[in-house]
Amino acid sequence: KVTQHIEKANGKPLFSFEILPPLKGQNIQCIFDNIEPLMEFKPPFIDVTYHREEYEYKELPNGLLEKKVVKKRPGTVGICSAIQNKYQVDAIPHILCGGFTKEDTENFLIDMDFLGIDNVVALRGDAVKSEIYFKPEKEGNTYASELVTQISNLNNGIYLDSDLQNTNKTDFCIGVAGYPEKHMEAPSLDSDIYFLKQKIKNGADYIITQMFFDNQKFFDFVDKCRAAGITVPIIPGLKPISTKKQLNLIPHRFKVDLPDDLIMEVVKAKDNEAVSQIGIEWCTAQSKELAKAGIPVLHYYSMGKSDNIRQIASEVF
Ligand code: FAD
Repeated sequence: KVTQHIEKANGKPLFSFEILPPLKGQNIQCIFDNIEPLMEFKPPFIDVTYHREEYEYKELPNGLLEKKVVKKRPGTVGICSAIQNKYQVDAIPHILCGGFTKEDTENFLIDMDFLGIDNVVALRGDAVKSEIYFKPEKEGNTYASELVTQISNLNNGIYLDSDLQNTNKTDFCIGVAGYPEKHMEAPSLDSDIYFLKQKIKNGADYIITQMFFDNQKFFDFVDKCRAAGITVPIIPGLKPISTKKQLNLIPHRFKVDLPDDLIMEVVKAKDNEAVSQIGIEWCTAQSKELAKAGIPVLHYYSMGKSDNIRQIASEVF
């Protein structure tokens, strides 16, 4: 369990990272190729994201639109099981409210339990492209806090079907998302932290943050969480910039700020190779400061790339 890994580390910062399932049609070898260069830094756990279905519309010859449901990156739980078997490290599937009924969620958790997966990150998920706002399934969870309650219930042997109560109890360690610069839909950081606390009250064991590029935002967020009575570990999420395009993409997609100094360095870089080097240096400096401040785990968003994370880890761990 993540919380046990943190306890065992006794204050020494741990290295962990997140990977994406490959696009449908690709082989699991690309996952192993992503992981392998990072294993020497002994990650106690690796996160695997979950990607819900999207709707695509195809125009038919008669002018009508055909709606197609596509799932581009399936395989989250299968990948977790394969990682655990191959590397003997804990793999953590992300699970969403979006696209799942409570029954689907329960069955997903039972699969995980049977595969020996003891950790999960509980998330709401974003709106799909065709929606303006996130819409839950008819019989699904609306907020991550409700999903946390469902997982905690299962840990206590409380199933949706009352005939099954007190049969097999699961034992999941539950992570949830936190946003140092607030979640994009939240009217304020304080209200976002108020609801973050709800996730902890409902049974979440730790928080992993959205990426940030200015450590002061993380430190202020931790202070605010502590002042609000949140005592669980808060794990920073870190992402090294690697392309010029990300200067526009990251603020747009994740609603996080990039510091002016970083922006200007990237703007002046002659190519993406130079950008990648800037990203590595920036993220290494962030990591060193966080490690020095006694942060228990540094968690990297690999997004399918490991060479830059490898260079950072070799400087920090
Ligand atoms: P919630 O905690 O439910 O919060 C969503 C919004 O609702 C917030 O603005 C919050 O303030 C507000 N809110 C919460 N409860 C209430 C309430 N009771 N009443 C009113 N407002 C409320 N997405 C994926 O699709 N797959 C992934 O694998 C994935 N992994 C992620 C990992 C991390 C570490 C992070 C930070 C994000 C990840 N995401 C992933 C993105 C995430 O799904 C989105 O950011 C999503 O929009 C919010 O999810 P959440 O769990 O934070 O939602």
